[in-house]
Amino acid sequence: MTTHDVEIAIIGAGFSGLGAAIKLAQAGEDDYLVLDRGNDFGGTWRDNVYPGAACDVPSHLYSFSFAQNPDWSRSYSHQPEIHRYINAVADEHRIGERTWFRTDVVGADWDDDEARWTVRVERDGAPVTIRARTVVAGIGPLCEPNLPDIKGIDGFGGTIVHTARWDTDYDFAGKRVAVIGTGASAIQVVPQLGKVAGHLDVYQRTAPWIIPRNERPYLAAENWAFKNVPGLQNLIRGTIYTANEAVAAGMTFAPKALKPVEAICRGNIFRGIRDPQLRKAVTPTFAVGCKRILKSNDWYPTLDRTNVDLVTDPIAEVTETGVVTADGTARDVDVIVVATGFHVTDSPAFEVIRGVGGKSLAQVWSSDGMQAYKGSFVHGFPNMVMLVGPSTGLGHTSMVYMIESQLNYLVDYVRKTRDAGIGRTEVKREAQDRYNDKVQHTLRNSVWETGGCASWYKDVNGKITSLWPGFTFTFRNNTREFDMAAYDVTPRVESTDLASATGA
Ligand code: NAP
Repeated sequence: MTTHDVEIAIIGAGFSGLGAAIKLAQAGEDDYLVLDRGNDFGGTWRDNVYPGAACDVPSHLYSFSFAQNPDWSRSYSHQPEIHRYINAVADEHRIGERTWFRTDVVGADWDDDEARWTVRVERDGAPVTIRARTVVAGIGPLCEPNLPDIKGIDGFGGTIVHTARWDTDYDFAGKRVAVIGTGASAIQVVPQLGKVAGHLDVYQRTAPWIIPRNERPYLAAENWAFKNVPGLQNLIRGTIYTANEAVAAGMTFAPKALKPVEAICRGNIFRGIRDPQLRKAVTPTFAVGCKRILKSNDWYPTLDRTNVDLVTDPIAEVTETGVVTADGTARDVDVIVVATGFHVTDSPAFEVIRGVGGKSLAQVWSSDGMQAYKGSFVHGFPNMVMLVGPSTGLGHTSMVYMIESQLNYLVDYVRKTRDAGIGRTEVKREAQDRYNDKVQHTLRNSVWETGGCASWYKDVNGKITSLWPGFTFTFRNNTREFDMAAYDVTPRVESTDLASATGA
């Protein structure tokens, strides 16, 4: 088996892994290797190719601050354009030269004697070992599809497609289709399927709050101005950012202040649906903001179509031919689309990353849920930096902003520990605990805690371990500099030092 030595192994080539590679290279730290199981850059934006896939953060904010794009074609970008953007940025910075695609990470183990990570991969199917001083885990929370655990689903005789693993060859035209789920992915794919399906059943367990989506194409004159008027793009980014932060204040500290948002959502229902019964069925019963607020203009009109039925009776089982609900009704279908989200708090990747004493992330997080210090370092996992780690997710603005905050922290960690000759950096247990106590304390009055809903923000014990509460600029300030005092550090012992010490 071949072994490669690098200073930094970056797992994942999505927004966070790519950003890490660019920022490290710009800081002169270019002994790194990016590893990704796919064929190109993009992560979730490469994998989610279902019809209608798009971002609900405006284009100008949903991009790197250091790689702004004056050519966005619309105010909200769709998946193909974001995917192209990410790959164009990677090309511009020539990150592909230091990236291995079609490379599956099957294990990452911390070696305390050597103060190195051993990352085992399968590259085009062949086993390779990579030894790295630091691992950057840019694996993303929205990458492992969550397949619903419904009785009989494995015995379904038709086709089953998860939104994040779309079958682009399957022709939905004229088919009988069932969609399970009414989250962010479902509300985008359903209107597209509704246009072509013979019949479409939408299985709703919980109705979401949905505001209108003010998406429009940019005029050529606007794109000209984005390119040529100095500061214009920054001004637009700043305006969108500030408006979103106001929503964060309501979500975290004063859920009642979100009542006007609820009124807008109710107006959206009223405009989109004529039937009073259907209006009632799609009106949520929890506080707005508790689950992600969705954006759509065509969800409600689609449910109002004659070839579309909204089914609110719980699913009892899936048979060989279709879906049966608790009231005993059987609806036969050709294809089931599962828009049931991702393994966020229980990602399979947590099983294969093992720190001190061989304990996996899944093991250390099994009793009290996911925890990290500043979403980045985990006690027991020295020299590993997580991007979009625990308590960094957002319900109101661009994750790219959070990623860039973490990149500042990452680069400062690499620079400071190298300059100080440090070889092992482990966050102190007390620092991590104090930090997480504060996060949980901030969450106590938030809409996610008090709003009366279940959501993927919570783990199996109902603890919110994936969300950042409050303003994102607070997180930016927290991660501006690597605060070495929060860490136990050990000097570097280079292999050449070892050789001279033993006279070899
Ligand atoms: P999601 O928000 O987790 O929604 C999953 C849906 O499936 C929910 O409606 C859920 O119902 C339902 N469900 C799950 N298991 C079920 C079961 N066994 N039986 C019946 N229904 C079941 O997943 P998602 O829509 O893929 O979105 C995940 C996240 O990805 C989003 O929150 C967002 O952060 C991101 N995303 C963003 C965009 C965008 O920017 N526009 C688009 C897509 C995804 P319950 O509500 O009752 O649990």
